[in-house]
Amino acid sequence: MQAQRKQPARRAAPRRHSRVAIVGTGFSGLGMAIRLKQEGEHDFVLLERAGDIGGTWRDNTYPGCRCDVPSHLYSYSFAPNPNWSSTFSPQPEILAYLKDTANRHGVLPHVSFETELEHASWDEDDQLWRLDTSNEPLTADILIAAQGPLSEPSLPNVPGIESFEGTSFHSAEWDHAHDLTGERVAVIGTGASAIQFVPEIQPIVGKLHVFQRTAPWVVPHRNRPMTRVERALYRQFPPAQLAMRAGIYWARESFVLQFRRRAVGKLLERISLTHLESQVKDPELRKKLTPHYRMGCKRILPTDEWYAALVKPNVEVVTDAITEVRPHSIVTADGSEREVDTIIYGTGFHVTDVPIANRVSGRDGRTLAEVWRGSMQAYKGSTVSGYPNLFLLVGPNTGLGHTSIVFMIESQINYVLDALRTLRSRGARSVEVRPETQAAYNAELDRMTEGTVWVSGGCQSYYIDRNGHNAALWPTYTWPFRQRTRHFDVAAYALDRRVSANGGRHDRAPAAHA
Ligand SMILES: Cc1cc2nc3c(=O)[nH]c(=O)nc-3n(C[C@H](O)[C@H](O)[C@H](O)COP(=O)(O)OP(=O)(O)OC[C@H]3O[C@@H](n4cnc5c(N)ncnc54)[C@H](O)[C@@H]3O)c2cc1C
Repeated sequence: MQAQRKQPARRAAPRRHSRVAIVGTGFSGLGMAIRLKQEGEHDFVLLERAGDIGGTWRDNTYPGCRCDVPSHLYSYSFAPNPNWSSTFSPQPEILAYLKDTANRHGVLPHVSFETELEHASWDEDDQLWRLDTSNEPLTADILIAAQGPLSEPSLPNVPGIESFEGTSFHSAEWDHAHDLTGERVAVIGTGASAIQFVPEIQPIVGKLHVFQRTAPWVVPHRNRPMTRVERALYRQFPPAQLAMRAGIYWARESFVLQFRRRAVGKLLERISLTHLESQVKDPELRKKLTPHYRMGCKRILPTDEWYAALVKPNVEVVTDAITEVRPHSIVTADGSEREVDTIIYGTGFHVTDVPIANRVSGRDGRTLAEVWRGSMQAYKGSTVSGYPNLFLLVGPNTGLGHTSIVFMIESQINYVLDALRTLRSRGARSVEVRPETQAAYNAELDRMTEGTVWVSGGCQSYYIDRNGHNAALWPTYTWPFRQRTRHFDVAAYALDRRVSANGGRHDRAPAAHA
């Protein structure tokens, strides 16, 4: 009998290893990469599923797209731009700013384009993340998820939308090859994107049906061109721009009062209603456009052009719910059917059900989605118990209704950098937030959210998840968040100092004694 030959043990294909892997190249991922480089950490990779950097500002190219927080504040503190053309810059300028900043700081060679993170699993023995991507597999000691709070377009759950035979697209995937001139166009949604693109397309389309579920609170917009003198001043004397940034920051912090104090909220509601009354004379239309919930419950929208577009003769505001989409028309609850050539979805994004939650498995093999069960939770929006060495940027409860998210992003970046310093200085392989600390933090957030306009303002917003829980918003001023993230609070974490898999030192020490 022929002796059976022993098969050599199958070895898994070697994976490229980086100390840090960052998912995403928007404001968060790029900011993280730049600050890593400034700290002298060059062993990192940025995974970007698209063929270019820029995140939100690469994808949202719809007409009229611009930031709604002043550019002096909606930019990195470490990279002021004296050349903004207006106080609220248009999308191409913000994208150019991100590209220029990334280029100047040398992060582009670290980007792996068209590389989508498909799955990340924590390897407890080897104390690292195993990453499966649409390209080669990788490993990393640290995983930083900067995949964006508003990067997955959401479509309405209406029967028949897939049967539509005309052209349709989401505002974040604008079809520039499609000419809307003279067409019958339906816009579904009246949120932050729709209020920007509707006034741009209204003059060229034949008929525009705007389907509104909830009337937004709209306030006058302060956008204006930046003067040559201002730009020269900021170029010659950068502290002037820093002072302007600080002024804007504190002015916007005061907006929190409107979310927390009813009297202030009422005053702003009056300003908004005066804005509506001055632009919309028809009482029927005015009634349709009057919000029936407290201001701030949903995002407040600054624009002078929205109402002005809606009063035009080729525009109809439809408030009856859509019940069905047919191959060439849209049917509403009152039985009306409107024939349309194109549907544009201004229906927002998956905010509280981020797809990455299904793609990250922790120490016990469960995905974030399995652990969260519909309600995202983290500690300081950044770390999650059971997921060592995972850091989230713009994670749960870091979203804002009143000011620049870049402020929160930079706070989180500081926190992550200090965590990496701590790992090094303590000779640890991993950090993991203690479950009781995470629970206490989230209980505190719940208390802070109680009674605010977001949960008692009488609206349905994307800040609140399917369990009725505030999963997205940081519920107060942003400066306390900056204070809380200034230093990595190592006592809140367990540190692991194991040296190698199946051997060496293996002491999962409580951090407080580390
Ligand atoms: C039209 C619009 C206007 C806005 N205006 C403002 C404003 O004025 N002020 C404000 O504070 N906020 C604003 N926001 C919110 C905005 O999302 C944030 O300000 C900010 O841009 C988020 O940056 P980010 O890097 O966290 O995410 P993003 O910019 O969304 O970047 C995420 C990146 O991750 C990539 N990615 C996602 N999943 C994967 C994966 N699995 N694998 C690999 N890559 C992946 C995406 O392709 C993307 O490039 C706006 C949002 C939109 C949509």
